[in-house]
Amino acid sequence: MKLVVMKFGGTSVEDAVAIDRTARIVSGRRAQGVVPIVVVSAMAKVTDHLIAASNAAGRGDRAGALAISARLRHRHHDTARKLLTQGPTYVETPDFCEISEWIDKHFESLDEIFRGLAAVGELTARTSDLVVSFGEQLSSRMVTAGFATRGLDAVHVDSRKCIITDAQHGRAIPNDAVIENRLAETVLPLLRDGKLPVMGGFIGSTEDGVTTTLGRGGSDFTAALVGGGLNASVIEIWTDVNGIMTADPRICPNALRVKTISFEEAAELAYFGAKVLHPATILPAVQKNIPVAVLNSRNPQNEGTRITALAAHCRSPFKSIAVKRRLTIIDVVASRMLMSHGYLKSIFDVFDKHKCAVDMVSTSEVSVSLTVDSNEKLPEISADLGKIADVKYEGRKALVCMVGEDIRGQNGIAAQVFQAIRHVNVRMISQGASEINMSFMIEEDDVEEAVRSLHAAFFQDPDPEVFDVEARAAAIAETVPK
Ligand code: ADP
Ligand code: ASP
Ligand code: MG
Repeated sequence: MKLVVMKFGGTSVEDAVAIDRTARIVSGRRAQGVVPIVVVSAMAKVTDHLIAASNAAGRGDRAGALAISARLRHRHHDTARKLLTQGPTYVETPDFCEISEWIDKHFESLDEIFRGLAAVGELTARTSDLVVSFGEQLSSRMVTAGFATRGLDAVHVDSRKCIITDAQHGRAIPNDAVIENRLAETVLPLLRDGKLPVMGGFIGSTEDGVTTTLGRGGSDFTAALVGGGLNASVIEIWTDVNGIMTADPRICPNALRVKTISFEEAAELAYFGAKVLHPATILPAVQKNIPVAVLNSRNPQNEGTRITALAAHCRSPFKSIAVKRRLTIIDVVASRMLMSHGYLKSIFDVFDKHKCAVDMVSTSEVSVSLTVDSNEKLPEISADLGKIADVKYEGRKALVCMVGEDIRGQNGIAAQVFQAIRHVNVRMISQGASEINMSFMIEEDDVEEAVRSLHAAFFQDPDPEVFDVEARAAAIAETVPK
């Protein structure tokens, strides 16, 4: 059995048209004789709206939360109607009636939670997870019904029965061994019966059955857990771009598709902000050597990007540029602590206490600069650090990270990088933690200019073995007046 996990992101299930396209992609795979398991995200932007609604309810804004919920209910009904009814007059089918009732039941319990939250005026991480889980619960049921009416033998699997995690709400850690057993009990028998399992990504539960989530963008992670647990032949991440590109195409419209990239390079890119892939997607793939493919559900003919154990060598030292925004630099300065033993530990203890991850560190004799995601705990972190040393922090910073296996041992790369962005103010630099990335901090406002300049400097003569240069040639041909 050649198992393939097919994960469809929010834009691939954003409305009835997208779900219909997705059904055709899955049918195509089945026609090729492979056995797919489908993992879906919530419909595009639904998670953001659920977070906004629960925050509103937590502030006591009952009406605000219920208004968002009403809009989401309408969108799900509307999609179900277009997906499951027949003809231009929308004749109601039994499938539609069933799912429609199911949607109402779910939104009623969601509204009940919002009323409770607004009355208490407090939102816990546990309740937040329950609320956001509705996005994937709803999308996965709807996609199952849509697939079933299109001749696919789809069966819904509640991910919370398989993806078992600890109780760190908002960023739960999966228990691989238990997940493997649960998948073997629930999903394998369906596959053996020739069914098509459809599961929601991102959501899981503790062993006691309390709903958890794997962190933003976590549906990719679910796909990797399912692929790893069932020893799939490949994990496919279907999204809205042609694959991993040389830069975020929203910043750099002439970015090129990278044909193949190594696990290590993709992991660095994902960790340092390339939203196209969740950093944990690579883990099970690395442990079991399962290739990952990133593909475009709006352009399924395109070959996408293949992520494999070994990197393809190329002429350009870099494969891609990632950007992480909304960062803050914290400067900790303490002359009296000069060279003192245990100083760095006392600083990191503060970040540990506030469960705050640090992205980049640089030290001098008297000062330490660290970067963190901007978050509401910064005043508390700063107050605690203030007990050890003088502290100042500054937000609206961005980390630019250049990744490529071919920078190992090459002379003069740093000079080329900083020459390309000589007009940009660079605040912190890091190279060496991993031999395949070079990162630096800049002002958020300088991101566009920096990325475009770097892209022009390093990808103007791309290696056709590694990058899709035909797409660039076609784009240039289109813009040249005849
Ligand atoms: P999905 O909902 O399918 O998971 P995401 O929005 O999480 O999709 O990820 C896809 C987006 O990632 C793209 O639309 C693109 O703007 C962004 N992105 C950032 N960096 C890159 C990159 N290097 N290559 C491709 N896409 C990137
Ligand atoms: N729906 C979740 C999010 O928006 C998970 C995902 O899309 O991967 O973060
Ligand atoms: Mg994503």
